Amino acid sequence: MKLYYKSSRGADGEFAASQAIIRGIAEDGGLFVPNALPELKMDFSELKYKSYGETAYEVMSLFLDDFEEEELKNCIANAYDDKFDTEEIAPLVMLDDGVSVLELFHGPTLAFKDMALSILPRFMQMAKKKNNIEEDIVILTATSGDTGKAALEGFAGIDGVEIIVFFPEKGVSPVQKLQMVTQEGENTHVAGIRGNFDDAQTGVKMIFGDKEYAKKLKSKGYRLSSANSINIGRLIPQTVYYFYAYGQLLKKGIVQNGDLVDFVVPTGNFGNILAGYYAKRMGLPVGHLVCASNENKVLSDFFESGNYDKNRLLTKTQSPSMDILVSSNLERLLYEISGNNEEPVSEWMKSLDEKGFYNVDAFLSGLKEDFEAGWINDSDGRRCIADVYRKYGYLMDTHTAVAYGVNERRTNGSKRHSVILSTASPYKFPKSVLSSIEKKYEDWEEIDLMEVMEEFVEGEIPTGVKDIRNRKVLHEHVCGKDGMKEAVDEFLSGRDLK
Ligand SMILES: *Cc1c(COP(=O)(O)O)cnc(C)c1O
Repeated sequence: MKLYYKSSRGADGEFAASQAIIRGIAEDGGLFVPNALPELKMDFSELKYKSYGETAYEVMSLFLDDFEEEELKNCIANAYDDKFDTEEIAPLVMLDDGVSVLELFHGPTLAFKDMALSILPRFMQMAKKKNNIEEDIVILTATSGDTGKAALEGFAGIDGVEIIVFFPEKGVSPVQKLQMVTQEGENTHVAGIRGNFDDAQTGVKMIFGDKEYAKKLKSKGYRLSSANSINIGRLIPQTVYYFYAYGQLLKKGIVQNGDLVDFVVPTGNFGNILAGYYAKRMGLPVGHLVCASNENKVLSDFFESGNYDKNRLLTKTQSPSMDILVSSNLERLLYEISGNNEEPVSEWMKSLDEKGFYNVDAFLSGLKEDFEAGWINDSDGRRCIADVYRKYGYLMDTHTAVAYGVNERRTNGSKRHSVILSTASPYKFPKSVLSSIEKKYEDWEEIDLMEVMEEFVEGEIPTGVKDIRNRKVLHEHVCGKDGMKEAVDEFLSGRDLK
């Protein structure tokens, strides 16, 4: 059967993968979902001999069936190359026989967003060509920190694409801000917003929804698109590392082919863990997917009660990439559990929009066959970082610590091996990490602590942040939340169309 993508809320239209990637989001506000999840027909014991790139081809070719073999292989080769600081791309580190850590932070920006954002720009370039789109594509992104830098890095130097990132000027860490404002590349544009992340996000959504503005851009030869995790082109590459991890476990002799493995995922927008669910449905021997939350535990409450309720205050935690109350990608899971039925999905989303909550009672027991969930607070997280460092000599970041802590608390007595997904390098959050081990570092400057961290981990400071304080600031634009459209105009006015 031919694979196509459609809206999770039922809008008309069947789209090839390349079209769904260009569009980003469906016309009715729904997310693009595959009409059926493909099955990976393969003897999984072969996975242990496959490189990351080879695994990526096996898995992604099932989803991107309007890409030629050559095209997809090109995208993969250009994405997973020496931008990553290890040939393994996503190494699996054993803590003990029962627990391993899948490191997803070896890309250029030290966060798991690189796993998808290093290849999405290649998909877009290819998709643009395939669909004869002549306009230049303008990627607009609002970021709370990690996505912005990964998108800038991924799209820098890509022909026919401009990338514009808005970040809350006072709402990101010093390292994150430096990473963005020092970004090189003629087609990269960065603006600080006088406001918070929600203001930036709302501003971007308003620009996307403004039909007049889209017309104006079109007359100038531009077309808007999105690199946020609602783009199906970000989800597909994330299914790959679940298969790759399984191959590594087989290779190390930790599991036998067919043994079930649990994956524990520090979750925010539900993109990472959803990719794991897709992998399971594609045939990978997965036991439970464990959804790990910080104090913003909307998801962990949801899996317990079947009630999704965002009516609560957002708490700022030491795992900021998980400080989220509306997890957009959950909509894709709802579509799957309701048996590809867009009616209940539309109703749930309407209820979320109008009342801030929805209830999936009838489907809760089904969900529990695939998912577990839990949460920990910041002080538990700090204890986990210190414990793991003392016990295994392994330094993990604050997001990874949430997954570790939740895994430790699981009470189901599962004998399955657990893979903890590590979503950021400890170098990204040096102060929270080091002060968990030694209190004195609480008073240090974040940037200075990067050098101190070198003493705690094997190997040098990753090139992604090395010398970051000496890099030249190239982006100084700051605007009010009402000035975002003008900023876009200004950024584009200086560009020659190709
Ligand atoms: C984005 C991010 C997450 C959350 O991932 P989702 O796919 O949004 O659930 C977790 N940790 C880090 C470090 C991230 O950057």
